[in-house]
Amino acid sequence: MKKLIAILISLTIVLGFSTTAFASSEKVNIEKIEFKNPDFIKGMDISSVISLENSGVSFKNFNNEKEDLLKILSDNGVNCIRIRVWNNPFDKDGNGYGGGNNDIDIAVKIAERAAKYKLKLLIDFHYSDFWADPAKQKAPKEWENLTLAQKTEKVKEFTKSSLEKIKAVGGEVAMVQIGNETTNGIAGEYSKDNMAEIYKAGSSAVREFNKDIKIAVHFTNPENTEYIKSLADYLNDYKIDYDVFSTSYYPYWHGSLSNLTEVLNYAAKNYGKYVMVTETSYANTLDDTDGHANTVSQWSNCTGENLLWDFSYQGQADELRAVMSAVNNVDNGKGLGVFYWEGAWISVGDTTGLGVKAYSERLENNKKLWEEFGSGWASSYSKEFDPDDAGKYFGGSAVDNQAFFGADGKALPSLRVFDFVSFGDGEILLGDADGNGKVNILDTTVIQKHISDGYSVNKKAADIDGDKLVTIKDATLIQKYRVKMKVDYPINTDVN
Ligand code: CA
Repeated sequence: MKKLIAILISLTIVLGFSTTAFASSEKVNIEKIEFKNPDFIKGMDISSVISLENSGVSFKNFNNEKEDLLKILSDNGVNCIRIRVWNNPFDKDGNGYGGGNNDIDIAVKIAERAAKYKLKLLIDFHYSDFWADPAKQKAPKEWENLTLAQKTEKVKEFTKSSLEKIKAVGGEVAMVQIGNETTNGIAGEYSKDNMAEIYKAGSSAVREFNKDIKIAVHFTNPENTEYIKSLADYLNDYKIDYDVFSTSYYPYWHGSLSNLTEVLNYAAKNYGKYVMVTETSYANTLDDTDGHANTVSQWSNCTGENLLWDFSYQGQADELRAVMSAVNNVDNGKGLGVFYWEGAWISVGDTTGLGVKAYSERLENNKKLWEEFGSGWASSYSKEFDPDDAGKYFGGSAVDNQAFFGADGKALPSLRVFDFVSFGDGEILLGDADGNGKVNILDTTVIQKHISDGYSVNKKAADIDGDKLVTIKDATLIQKYRVKMKVDYPINTDVN
C-alpha cells in the first residue's frame, strides 16, 4: 500500500509538471533530425578538461550548480567523448607542452569519469608528443631514430598498452583513431608505403585488443575533393583494415556542406566504410575571454561563403545541426556521427570588461596558469619539440568563443542542440523517452537500453520521478501506468 501511495505521489508530481518549457531568452530553436542511424554519435572532444580544472576552472549546469563536466554533457545529449593522446608531451624536466598535457595518464582520468556517466569513448592517438595536423606529423622523441620496423612495433605496443590502461578504469572505447589529421603524414612518415605500415600497425593492435572497437582514419580539407577521395582509394589499394573514414570540417576553411557529404559518400559507397566528422566547431561570439587571440575573431576567419550562420548561440547550434545533417545525408545509413572539437575549452581567468591595468594583471596570471598546468594551446616548454609554431606563439585558448560554456563555466543555451537534434525543441512530454511524440512501450524499452548500454534517451522526458536520474524506476512507472493506471496518467497523448 505504501508503495502504491508512493506511485500516486509520483504521478501527482507528474500531473503538476507534465511539460517543461524553456525561458525564451535561453532558448535556441533546432529542428529535429531523423537520424538513419539510431545510435548516431553526438560527440564532443573535451581533452583539455583536467588542465582547466587544475587551473581553477569549474563547470556549471543550467541551474548554475557546479557539476562534473562529463555529467553535464551526458545529461544534455552528448553520447561519446573524444580524447587525444600524446606519447610524451613533457620536456626532460617534466614541464608540460600544454594543450592539456594529454598523455595517457590524463586520458585515463577523463575515461574514468566518462565511464561513470556511461559515455563511450573515441581515443585519438596522435602518435606524436604534441599537436599532429596536416602541417606537422613529427614522431615522438623516443621514436625519432628508430627504423620503420622498430617504429611499427612501438605503435603496436603504445596502442595496446594505452587501451589496456583505459579498460582498467572501466572506460568503454567505442572507436580508436589511427593518427590525427594524417592528410600528409603520420608518426614522422610521409611516403605512402611507410604510412601504410604505421596504419597497419595501429589497426592490428586495436583488432587484437578488441574486435568490437571501430577503427577510424582521420583527414582534413574535404574541400580538396578529389585528393580526399583519392585517400580512400589509397587505403583500399594498400589493404588497410579500418571501419570509419573521417574528416575534420571547419566551415571557415573546409568548403560546403554538400561537398562534405559528397566526399563522405565516396568512401561509404565505393568501399562500404562508415563515415564521420571527427572535428567541427563554430564561434558563438567574436569576443575573446582569456587574453589569447581566438582563431575566429573580428580580425580573422569570420567571413566566407560557407559561414552560413550568425556568431551567436543560435548560430553555433545551427552549424552543429547542419554538420550532423550533412553526415546523416550520406547514403545507406553510413553516417556514423559528429564530434564537436573542444566544446569546453574556456578561459582560465575572464578578462572581459576589465580596465587596462586589471586586464594586464589577469592576463599575467592566466599565462602562469597556462605554463604551470598546460591549460593553454601550448606552453613555452613546447619549443624543444615544435620550435617554429608552438614554441613561438604559445598561449591560452584560441577557441573559448566556440565553447558551449561561458567564461564563468556555465552551460550556454547552445548546448541544448545535442538533445534538440534528437528530440526536437518543443515542450518536453514527460515519459516520451525516445522522443517520438508518444508515451508507449518503446519508451520503457529505450530506458532499459539506456541503463544497460548507454543508449541515447531524452533524459528530461525519461525522468518520471524527478530524481534527476534515469533509472529502472522510471521505466516501471511508465509500465505501471500503461497497464493499470491509464486513466490517471496525466501526460498521455497516445498510449498503445
Ligand atoms: Ca582566447
